[in-house]
Amino acid sequence: MTSSRTRAFAACLAFAGLVACAERDAPPQAPLDGGEPLLTAEPVAFDADGLTPPLSIPPFAGESVALWARSEPGTCFALASLQDARGRTWVDRREAGPYCLDCGVRTSMAQEEALFVLPGGEGFTPGEGFTVRFGLVACETLTPVKTAGAPRLQLAWLPRASPPERGRLSLRFLVSRHSMLLGNPERQRELLERLNGELEEAGLEVTLAAVAELPDAPAETRFWTTELAGLASLRDGAPPALDATVDIVFAGCLRYDDPFFGPPVPVDGFTPRVGGGAGPASAVFMPGLRCDAFGEAPAQWPLDASARVLAHELGHFLGLYHSVEADGTTDLMGDTDEQNIMNPHPSRAGARGWSPSQKRQMLSHPWVRAAPTPRP
Ligand SMILES: [Zn+2]
Repeated sequence: MTSSRTRAFAACLAFAGLVACAERDAPPQAPLDGGEPLLTAEPVAFDADGLTPPLSIPPFAGESVALWARSEPGTCFALASLQDARGRTWVDRREAGPYCLDCGVRTSMAQEEALFVLPGGEGFTPGEGFTVRFGLVACETLTPVKTAGAPRLQLAWLPRASPPERGRLSLRFLVSRHSMLLGNPERQRELLERLNGELEEAGLEVTLAAVAELPDAPAETRFWTTELAGLASLRDGAPPALDATVDIVFAGCLRYDDPFFGPPVPVDGFTPRVGGGAGPASAVFMPGLRCDAFGEAPAQWPLDASARVLAHELGHFLGLYHSVEADGTTDLMGDTDEQNIMNPHPSRAGARGWSPSQKRQMLSHPWVRAAPTPRP
């Protein structure tokens, strides 16, 4: 049994070839149980075409794998190619945008550092081994960069035997004065209970590890896919992050401010990257104020609605995309239709429930630990 402290150190060493650990935030935490040792590749450079050389993940006894990729500050990159041991191609290019819409294995663009969780399923069997290449992306435009880059990339991976039948995930609530949850433990407990009601079908249970207040959170925070400094700074006043624990930040008004398509729009919830656990502002953000309201009194959202949105955002954190995108593109998972909690409008009446593929993806995240199966 390895303690989380030892794991953190091992992960730190894994990246020591790139940047000294002491100068950096702690790397993402490996799971506390059930995982094989963290494996690493030598750091590689992005070549003339903006791509890394092929990096091979050898076969392992397991069904899913978590890849940690870390580059240098100011560098954005994406999975540019994924080929399995049988020569089948699952990803063949960098798509412009925050994530790949039609890749056989869908992943999101990374800023500086990211966790990619690749579960088996839909024909992809990572345990047979596979090869990946990463490619540079312009952080400002989210388009592929096809020239050599000075930055290097370090890759580490953690195979996982099989996702547990039931999983448990630790949360921490960070509550600003703009949230109706501030100073109200009873309401916090009720929200958690309703959230567990939403997650039940996915075999996931959440527990609350801690609650902390954010006294200095501003009334409004603006952000975009790669402009996350405002969101990241919301956590500045919080105690240090806990191992393998998702921070849920109850902020003020939250506005998604796309530099190409204005004006800024208020959101009901936001997860900076599909596939959380590493990189900037890796948390779930929930608004506490209505952006269009006069005065600064916390909005009194119904707990059921908040629980539904929070469950949807946790789905993103654990690697799920929308069941159908705004432009009509549906997710590629064969058993998942639009009427699902990962619909872009989780508050709609029909947006309920989780599919088996979604469950497998969520329970494959290394922060999800096995939970005892309740007796029938
Ligand atoms: Zn969403």
